[in-house]
Amino acid sequence: MKTDNIPNGPIAIDKDVDVLIVGSGTGMIAALAGDELGLKSLIIEKTSLVGGSTARSGGAFWIPANPILKEGGSKDTLEKAEAYLGAIVKDAPKKTWMAFLNNGVATVELLRRATPLDLFWAKGYSDYHPENPGGDSIGRTCESRPFNINSLGAEVKRLRPAPMSAPIPMPVTGYDYKWMNLMLRKPLKAFPIILKAMFKGIGGLLFGKKMTAGGEALAAGLFRRY
Ligand SMILES: Cc1cc2nc3c(=O)[nH]c(=O)nc-3n(C[C@H](O)[C@H](O)[C@H](O)COP(=O)(O)OP(=O)(O)OC[C@H]3O[C@@H](n4cnc5c(N)ncnc54)[C@H](O)[C@@H]3O)c2cc1C
Repeated sequence: MKTDNIPNGPIAIDKDVDVLIVGSGTGMIAALAGDELGLKSLIIEKTSLVGGSTARSGGAFWIPANPILKEGGSKDTLEKAEAYLGAIVKDAPKKTWMAFLNNGVATVELLRRATPLDLFWAKGYSDYHPENPGGDSIGRTCESRPFNINSLGAEVKRLRPAPMSAPIPMPVTGYDYKWMNLMLRKPLKAFPIILKAMFKGIGGLLFGKKMTAGGEALAAGLFRRY
């Protein structure tokens, strides 16, 4: 990617910090946690762009029993998720994935408290192996609602862009994408979802907003915080 016209970020020299975070992908969440604990954090990034693979990803996060799921009516529990991971994760030590389970809820709460992101449950985005104990075909995946990256102001130039975009300006979440693919089979459900995404994208432009979704939205929401 050509980066000649991307302004350099601030250069950190001789900084004294409590937490040094290498890389501006999910590491930005570590900085949020540090901030809340009153620790001075510094994120260093080797490229001209902020967001890493996180900004290029689908931005969907699988975090069991989180408050977004509960508010949406999910009956998920950490015990069910433990049974599920116990059935499908064969190689990693249990203490590793239990640490993921035990800290997931707090991470989602932190994201909601400390960023401008509006997160939602992509209900119906099934677990990949729902037939296993604790598996759930209604899913546990959440993602960000479309986010206006122009709210980053001049810093928008330093946000790593998503690798793909729709042919017309419209933010496509993972949830939308599923329904777009079902347009021919379920037009009554899919069509309004597509229209809404188009309305957000094209309508947003009229108000100077550039709406994006997926990992680009997630990274932008984290970047906005800094
Ligand atoms: C197309 C695609 C779609 C995906 N979709 C999903 C999804 O929907 N859900 C999901 O959970 N996962 C998804 N993933 C995987 C997910 O994107 C990654 O696991 C996640 O982003 C990794 O986060 P990270 O913070 O470890 O790394 P990154 O987000 O890549 O951040 C690392 C940062 O560190 C910087 N860096 C590296 N070395 C140095 C150094 N020495 N000094 C300073 N900076 C350095 C890099 O430049 C980069 O900016 C997807 C991946 C891809 C490629």
